[in-house]
Amino acid sequence: MDHQYQFLIDGDLVAADRHSGIHNPATGQPLGQCPIATRDDLERAVAAAKTAFPQWRDTADEERQAACHRVAQLFEDHAEDIARLITQEQGKTLVGIGSRFEVGGCAAWARHTADLPMPIKVLQNNHEGRVEMLRKPVGVVGSITPWNWPLLIAVWHMLPAIRSGCTLVMKPSPYTPLSTLYIGQLIAGVLPKGVVNIVSGDDQLGAWMTEHEDIQKIVFTGSIPTGRRIMGAAAPTLKRLTLELGGNDAGIVLPDCDPSAIAEGLFWGAFINNGQTCAALKRLYVHEEVFEGVCTALAGIASQIPVGNGLDEANVLGPLQNEMQFRKVIELVDDAKANGARVLTGGQTLGDIGYFYAPTLLGNVDQGMRIVQEEQFGPALPIIKISSVEEGIALANDSETGLGGSVWTNDGDAARHVATQLECGSVWINAHGMIAPHVPFGGVKSSGIGVEFGEEGLHEYTTIQAIHGLSPSVEVPQG
Ligand code: NAD
Repeated sequence: MDHQYQFLIDGDLVAADRHSGIHNPATGQPLGQCPIATRDDLERAVAAAKTAFPQWRDTADEERQAACHRVAQLFEDHAEDIARLITQEQGKTLVGIGSRFEVGGCAAWARHTADLPMPIKVLQNNHEGRVEMLRKPVGVVGSITPWNWPLLIAVWHMLPAIRSGCTLVMKPSPYTPLSTLYIGQLIAGVLPKGVVNIVSGDDQLGAWMTEHEDIQKIVFTGSIPTGRRIMGAAAPTLKRLTLELGGNDAGIVLPDCDPSAIAEGLFWGAFINNGQTCAALKRLYVHEEVFEGVCTALAGIASQIPVGNGLDEANVLGPLQNEMQFRKVIELVDDAKANGARVLTGGQTLGDIGYFYAPTLLGNVDQGMRIVQEEQFGPALPIIKISSVEEGIALANDSETGLGGSVWTNDGDAARHVATQLECGSVWINAHGMIAPHVPFGGVKSSGIGVEFGEEGLHEYTTIQAIHGLSPSVEVPQG
């Protein structure tokens, strides 16, 4: 299959002059041709979104909700086709926490977002008058997505935008554009033209979007350096920003834990999507009393995990998504080994074809090693021995990032204490990375600005208008 994909602009599928080949990271085989947008293509997409905006903004709320449910239905009706495409372009397995799980998440998030309320808030209603607060859609939103959960993250951007009355120009990652472009083909049939536009291309396209004067907001998920560039480029037009950036999440295991009881949760907290997940567990701090037990229990799981082509349902982890990430994991593990880390399991590439790397656990690790300081974004977990809970908290917080964190204990008071001390946007107790569509998710420090999900996430696609001096009897229609 080497199909040429197309943009979605103003309700039409539009062919491009130039394409780049997308390859399956498990086999190296060509998968499809990604269209490369010119600046003119982007101008057409932004103009379509701008033209569609006033009517979509003024569309009855229930109609916008119904449209969001129609989008959700697409994920349910085409689930298997979409999952197989994601597996082939991203690498994750069909089974486990893989592509079928991702498509299921798309439908669940779409349905939840569709049903979120957008009420008018009455701030005052007395003899001095009535004051109401409206939330109005910001306008045209530019969405820029990464390659790790290509479609789920696209849904996290798209659904709150269209639910709130914004229109959208989306740009998927150059590594994994096909699943988003495929959704564009389906969406063309269920949304008014111009409400969602999808263009693909290289990083330059994202930079053009960020500086575009007819885009009022950028929602971006990706790396910290790119987030910084976006924030700078958005300044001249004072765009609204939601930035979901990198994480280097820490987990802290307290001495009361039974290693065999927590090992599976720890393993999947770290190795979900081969570690290529923003809020995966990337540094594990284990109290010395249970350190050996945790290492042994984790190695027992990691060494048994079937790794291979994700289309084969016997496999539960696939390849890394791209060569850049593959090389980074090799480099960070080799650096740790050279500096005295003990390989508990894994530590090498697998096979000659595809970006396969064995699930890797490293002991005898120091806080200063690159694999602790940098985000590995791959299947390699450093395990660091601590002699007190306070030491674990201090080391966990010794990071420029602050996306998620976790504490593993049966002691509820200790769990609450550690959770409140961790400098991050989400903390899980005896789990890691369990996000949900009704719970706001976002980073502190360099991990981002703003939140996604729930009513708070929806609000990021709106601006506030306060209306003062209304007569208490006057009802203001929702706009
Ligand atoms: P990336 O920053 O390289 O690319 C992300 C997107 O930004 C791509 O679509 C890319 O084309 C685009 N882009 C690149 N340069 C740009 C520019 N100057 N202006 C505008 N857009 C530009 O990140 P990636 O390699 O795709 O993703 C991996 C990183 O993303 C990891 O660091 C990971 O932690 C992070 N991430 C974070 C979250 C989160 O929710 N916090 C989720 C997924 C990934």
